Amino acid sequence: MAASENEQMELVVVGGGPGGYPAAFAAADHGMDVSLVDENVRPGGVCLNRGCIPSKTLLHVAKLITECREAARWGITFGEPKIDLDRLREFKNGVIDKLTGGIGQLSQARNIHWIRARAAFLDSNTLGLTKPDGTGEALRFRHAILATGSSPAMPPIFKIADPRVMDSSGALEMPDIPDRLLVVGGGYIGLEMGSVYAALGSKVTVVEMMSGLLPGVDRDLVGPLKKRLDALFQAIHVNTKVASLAARNDGIVAELIGEGVESKQRFDRVLVAIGRRPNSSNLGLEKTQVELGDRGFVKVDKQQRTADPNILAIGDVAGEPMLAHKAMREAKVAIEVLTGGPAEFDNLAVPAVVFTDPEIAWCGLTETQAKALDRTVKVVRFPWAASGRAQTLGRTEGLTKVIFDPQTERVLGVGIVGTGAGELIAEGVLAVETAVVIRDLAACIHPHPTLSETVMESAEAALGQATHIFRPRRR
Ligand code: FAD
Repeated sequence: MAASENEQMELVVVGGGPGGYPAAFAAADHGMDVSLVDENVRPGGVCLNRGCIPSKTLLHVAKLITECREAARWGITFGEPKIDLDRLREFKNGVIDKLTGGIGQLSQARNIHWIRARAAFLDSNTLGLTKPDGTGEALRFRHAILATGSSPAMPPIFKIADPRVMDSSGALEMPDIPDRLLVVGGGYIGLEMGSVYAALGSKVTVVEMMSGLLPGVDRDLVGPLKKRLDALFQAIHVNTKVASLAARNDGIVAELIGEGVESKQRFDRVLVAIGRRPNSSNLGLEKTQVELGDRGFVKVDKQQRTADPNILAIGDVAGEPMLAHKAMREAKVAIEVLTGGPAEFDNLAVPAVVFTDPEIAWCGLTETQAKALDRTVKVVRFPWAASGRAQTLGRTEGLTKVIFDPQTERVLGVGIVGTGAGELIAEGVLAVETAVVIRDLAACIHPHPTLSETVMESAEAALGQATHIFRPRRR
């Protein structure tokens, strides 16, 4: 039930994604009266409905298929998988239903007023709500948290009004398994979705405008992934642009501009995954004091406050990195700030994970950033070929590296490529965030045989010699 027109809600959260719903929950846990407004039927935002969760569900299936195929080298041979796309879709949608249903129940249990409507500010104390049936209502508030997220970028050249040209939401619907799929963009979303379709049987071509996949990520981490993707995908074209798309009955013809790349190629579907834009327009922000900055992100300070004293902003709409866990932390900060706590978003390590196979994960300072900042750091690497656990898995292409301050030996960053890197990086986050020094990391007992030992052995290497690698001392 929503507050009536004359009532003033203590807090209204606009957007029910991984920024918005944790903010609403934390506020209710602090005893605040909270409304949570989202135009979607289900809570959970992009992450649960058309982002993190459905993509990881499908990536799990993709990994299963790939591992079954690769087991042939150990003498275990399975037949080619038969893919029942309807059941696969049902599984994926079932996971979404369970998780969004859970958020709905938790929201009810906390007495949060869930309002399904599109919101736009009328002034710094009032939101105009448009319900799905077209009726409107004004909702007055003392504080508002803007958590409207982001949407896929779709430049005009890709808008050819043909359903075969999809964004990530369309690709996650899995309308079919196209014979030939063009993925525009070699960022994490393009590579994750490309991996899913390739495992299911599509011939995937990836086109990336920059000189390498995953621009900005340390090259030594990208290398082992690139090697596997070269085998999985039909083609990867870097330094290549899509100049145009044209719809024909027999497919979409893409005009590609890149050295040595066939200019006109036909695909059955195209996935455009070239980035995301903050949802900061059509929100009536001009009727408030909220200011927009670079690329349309809402400007916030370290306490998530906007330039309007009544309005805070969190999540994708409040800036990079556009990741669910960063949104969740900002939600906690915002509520602590509203309830008088001394909180700031002062995290040093926002982990990032590319959920391909192998996964890539990093946190804290990267080598690329250290170079750009001209900061003196030491980097130690532990190759997974020396890890007993990696050998048992037959996945020795991985690498763990630790970046540390040569003076204080404080751990500044951790980067990992390898199977399960996304789980392993949490130790790096703890190390960076709690100012662990190399000696501590080396002295902590890590369970054997696990991939986590590669973090410990990287630290050992930093101290001189790791048990399972030998490097002759320089005289
Ligand atoms: P969102 O999740 O975008 O939620 C915003 C909500 O606000 C939406 O429900 C929207 O309907 C609502 N809304 C917007 N405007 C209005 C309005 N005017 N009125 C009412 N409601 C409104 N991140 C990770 O950390 N890990 C991953 O593995 C990962 N994988 C991803 C895979 C894909 C394919 C995609 C697309 C994204 C992925 N992300 C991942 C990114 C992640 O989904 C976002 O960072 C996260 O959802 C941002 O949360 P948010 O709360 O800021 O906004």
